[in-house]
Amino acid sequence: MAEITLKHVYKTFDDGVEAIRDFNLEIEDREFVVFVGPSGCGKSTTLRMIAGLEKITGGDLYIDGKRVNDVRAADRDIAMVFQNYALYPHMTVEENIGYSLKIAKTPKQERKRQVLEVAKMLDIDKVLDRKPGELSGGQKQRVAMGRAIVRHPKAFLMDEPLSNLDAKLRNKMRTEIKKLHEMLQSTIVYVTHDQTEAMTLGTKIVVMKDGIIQQVASPQELYEKPQNVFVAQFIGIPQMNLFEGKPYYQDGKYFFKLDDSRLPMDDDMGRLLMEKGYVGERVLTGVRPEDICLTQNGPLAAVVEVYELLGTESYVYFLFQGKRMCAKISADIPVRVGERISFDLRRDKMHFFDAYHGNLI
Ligand code: ATP
Repeated sequence: MAEITLKHVYKTFDDGVEAIRDFNLEIEDREFVVFVGPSGCGKSTTLRMIAGLEKITGGDLYIDGKRVNDVRAADRDIAMVFQNYALYPHMTVEENIGYSLKIAKTPKQERKRQVLEVAKMLDIDKVLDRKPGELSGGQKQRVAMGRAIVRHPKAFLMDEPLSNLDAKLRNKMRTEIKKLHEMLQSTIVYVTHDQTEAMTLGTKIVVMKDGIIQQVASPQELYEKPQNVFVAQFIGIPQMNLFEGKPYYQDGKYFFKLDDSRLPMDDDMGRLLMEKGYVGERVLTGVRPEDICLTQNGPLAAVVEVYELLGTESYVYFLFQGKRMCAKISADIPVRVGERISFDLRRDKMHFFDAYHGNLI
């Protein structure tokens, strides 16, 4: 069980690359924290600093209240599961899982018992005599997990553990990792660039970009209240649409001018934009695909470019303000490519962002 705290952590590599800047995070005991972000944003570097595999060049790292910046990886009582599994090829599954127990001089019978218990938990007890070369990708992944679990570490660190598996197996292992977290009741810090993995696994998600935290929130909060344009467009498939317009005030009412149309605005939102000095200024409004409604005589219009049917719903893509937008609608609504549609935006689901720095207004 572990609480992990990062305070103003920086990482600059010897060649001058500043991989992490002013990283502040509190990970509570038993939390499932996911670091997510595009390639190169510093997820693995942060995880490796927590593990003790990478030196911290600024700031402090605490595990259970103790500063561990200079504590060796082996003495941090944390287990790491890597993307490439890192199994010993010449050892059997049983030997791989039991290796740390052997090093700790656990008696043979007790070692066997513990390995079997973990192998049963992971459904690999039938392949204990095999070597890694004789296992499927999913089985190798389970052995890597087993090797971590058997150590009863304070926390598990997982670096893209599922990325070598095919889509179907990845889904299966994802639910198993979730179950495992409930069963083990331990702290997990998990790195992925896959937002579905992040949203389904994490109790707390850390969205990163260029070595800087963009937002830390629960999956739901991240989806409903993204703090900037980057998070808004990184989370959610298809991504959030961004329209450019100007809020204005006329005859006691607030409106949003979008091209030639004016959309009456929610009063509270209009007041907030007024208070913050955005009335009459160019702003961005983010609207998720499911919050665009196709209606007859709607205030906005466009021509359908692409139509994708996905079972019970469909995606309608169209060009607006020179950008490709997407509406997610019921598959029952007939739409043809080339057709002119009119649409509206759900006012209570419009997110407003500053057009220059992209932060939520
Ligand atoms: P990915 O999803 O591709 O694994 P990531 O978010 O985990 O990416 P990191 O591997 O943490 O990103 O890398 C962060 C930045 O630090 C990148 O710009 C990377 O090129 C740089 N970097 C990583 N390791 C080193 C190193 N040993 N020396 C110099 N720069 C490095």
